[in-house]
Amino acid sequence: MSFDTLGLSTELLQAISDSGYTEPTAIQKQAIPVILSGKDVLASAQTGTGKTAGFTLPMLQRLSEAKEHGEKKRVRALVLTPTRELAIQVGKSVETYGRHLPLKSVVIYGGASFNPQITKLRDGVDIIIATPGRLLDLVKKKNADLSAVEFLVLDEADRMLDMGFIPDVREIVSLLRKRRQNLLFSATFSQDIRKLAGGILTKPVQIDVAVRNTSPHEVRQEIHLVNMEHKQSHLSYIIGSRRWEQVLVFTTTKLSADELSKQLRLDGLKTETIHGDKTQGARARALEGFKEGRVRVLVATDIAARGLDIDKLPHVVNYDLPKVAEDYVHRIGRTGRAGNEGLALSLVSHEEFGLLKDIEKLIKHTIPQVETHDEWAVPAPESKSKRVARPSGQNRGKSNYKKSHGPKKKSDATRSKSRGQRSRKR
Ligand code: AMP
Repeated sequence: MSFDTLGLSTELLQAISDSGYTEPTAIQKQAIPVILSGKDVLASAQTGTGKTAGFTLPMLQRLSEAKEHGEKKRVRALVLTPTRELAIQVGKSVETYGRHLPLKSVVIYGGASFNPQITKLRDGVDIIIATPGRLLDLVKKKNADLSAVEFLVLDEADRMLDMGFIPDVREIVSLLRKRRQNLLFSATFSQDIRKLAGGILTKPVQIDVAVRNTSPHEVRQEIHLVNMEHKQSHLSYIIGSRRWEQVLVFTTTKLSADELSKQLRLDGLKTETIHGDKTQGARARALEGFKEGRVRVLVATDIAARGLDIDKLPHVVNYDLPKVAEDYVHRIGRTGRAGNEGLALSLVSHEEFGLLKDIEKLIKHTIPQVETHDEWAVPAPESKSKRVARPSGQNRGKSNYKKSHGPKKKSDATRSKSRGQRSRKR
């Protein structure tokens, strides 16, 4: 199926072709015609499914079809996102897909200076992409008028809920005109999300392309049982020996992100960190460096990494397991995107067996466990369940790190493999 059959205008089809897309993704196939028909949509779609284009393309089309009244542009579409990074990425998509259309947009987020945002608003825009807090600030200071908004998108609504933004979202929605089209995207559909949707959407068409609570099938998953104190050395070894050039590493706390980055740098790996305490500028620079290949390892906390759009990210590492099982699915969704195969590797210590059990229950399968080296391995409790061990040493290359820390004798690796295969209690 090609994009031609979805009812998009030639300007948009041209922009799609400029982006090199040949076939719509599942969410795009389902959402685009429904949104073009003017209906509200409640969609379950994770990042990486192509959801941004799924709502941006029909939004741009609806805006360019409808007639504008008056001299000055009024804000007709509003996209709310939980994080600055996501707002910036959606803003880029709006620009990319709308490049052949005369529509103007502005991205509004906190932690950046007010003036450029205010200037753009004064000049007149059709579309605002914003995080809720800063937008409310600007509305209260009379710098933004939302009364003509006829198209509302709540992107990653579950994350807005987790981050405590729902009161702000409700306040913003109360400022919009009643007759409008609403879209709500969320990776999960909890009771709270349904309640939020109930108050905002009108007779929504429900679209569900996320394999909910399961892991994306393009992502190969591995577990390495490693003691806490050996995780950092093991990670450096893996990156070096497998010659990974781009890896996103998750940690649960800002502190461990900083500490890990420091250690990885000491091992000679070009590493940057993004977390909530970093300035917007520092986060943007780190991300740019990573995308451009100057930074080999990007260490991130869950919230900072949410919504990051990094094309064809080949490797994701869970340095520690997330406390909430759903976050595992979000994390590994950063790789294997839009049909590219990816690898998600989790370093698991004794203390984390409970969390691992929760994750495996959620994704409804056992994650294959891979051998680790004897001196690093966690002695695993006996288990009745069988795990399939994959060789961890594929693509082994030359690495100084390996020379000092790698397995010294073949028998070491062999011994640890048999121990790894015994697996832990479940
Ligand atoms: P998203 O889920 O919106 O974050 O998109 C994930 C990635 O898929 C982005 O890098 C998009 O540029 C890319 N993408 C979106 N739609 C398509 C498509 N139809 N074909 C190929 N890549 C796409």
